[in-house]
Amino acid sequence: MEPDGDASSSTPLKAEGLYWQDCGLVLQAEDTVYRLSRDFLASHSPVFRDMLLIPTPADAETFDGCPLVRLTDSAKDITRFFNALVRYDYFPPHPIPVSFPVVASVLRMSDKYGVDGLRARALAHLSEVHPTTLADFRALPPGLTEHLLIDGLYQARAEVVKLARQLSIDWLLPVAFYRLCQLNPHPHMFTSDITLEDKERWLTGLRLLEGKENNKMIDFLWTPRVIDGCTSRSKCSEERLACRKEAEGWGIIGHKTGGRQLPLDLWDNGDWARLGVCGNCLATMTAEHSTCMQALWDRLPAIFDLPSWGALEARKANMMKQCQLHDYE
Ligand SMILES: [Zn+2]
Repeated sequence: MEPDGDASSSTPLKAEGLYWQDCGLVLQAEDTVYRLSRDFLASHSPVFRDMLLIPTPADAETFDGCPLVRLTDSAKDITRFFNALVRYDYFPPHPIPVSFPVVASVLRMSDKYGVDGLRARALAHLSEVHPTTLADFRALPPGLTEHLLIDGLYQARAEVVKLARQLSIDWLLPVAFYRLCQLNPHPHMFTSDITLEDKERWLTGLRLLEGKENNKMIDFLWTPRVIDGCTSRSKCSEERLACRKEAEGWGIIGHKTGGRQLPLDLWDNGDWARLGVCGNCLATMTAEHSTCMQALWDRLPAIFDLPSWGALEARKANMMKQCQLHDYE
């Protein structure tokens, strides 16, 4: 057992690669110290600039002969943030993959310390995988989001909701909640630390998606009963009815339904090949399915009691404008 003692008297750890002997400012986050250039930090962050403008009192704390600034952030967040600031290849722009924990730390810290360029870059990483249009959502290649979900699927999905709430990045929420609903909620609902209101959104949304919305979505298989211009009525009817019956077994979370769980995943473009219907039926059904998908997408924010896509997109445009990259001459 370690003897009880004053935590501040234990020797802090010098951050690997972020403790530079030729720099004159030491910063401490938890038990880690960083030695960086005061002017470098001030030139990138208006918050550090203001903080460092305050004259150092004669009896100020020092470390290694340098003035010491104590930060209230976690060492993990600060290490990732300083790495993103000083190493040009540590936090590359989209589409180069970056893990979610790094994006989250950089976003939290660049928001707090006003480093707009990094903030814009982190927002772009998250926005790309949480689209606000159906076309962009369907264009996401399978597996693309995996690099952003590296810390374990469920935990990272809930973390996106938490982060979006902390920093008011509301336009991420419809897709973030939809992704939460793709998981079986039972093992996670009680241990998750998202707010009670958001747990209600999650459960209410899941109930709607699994029930009413899934039923609406599979309607295209059997509505209308007879399609105008059908050239093979009995065969087409038989095919469509068989598929409609099979579809009743889809959409139950936790059952082995081959990933067919929620309305946006129930039917994909590859599935048309399994329907042996005539050309006219196929065209009508394809159009009907597109209409159903778009209508569902339009309702998605309301399903989770969130503002409309229009309102969310306006907030996105506004936030992105606020953190436009500076023009350097
Ligand atoms: Zn037909």
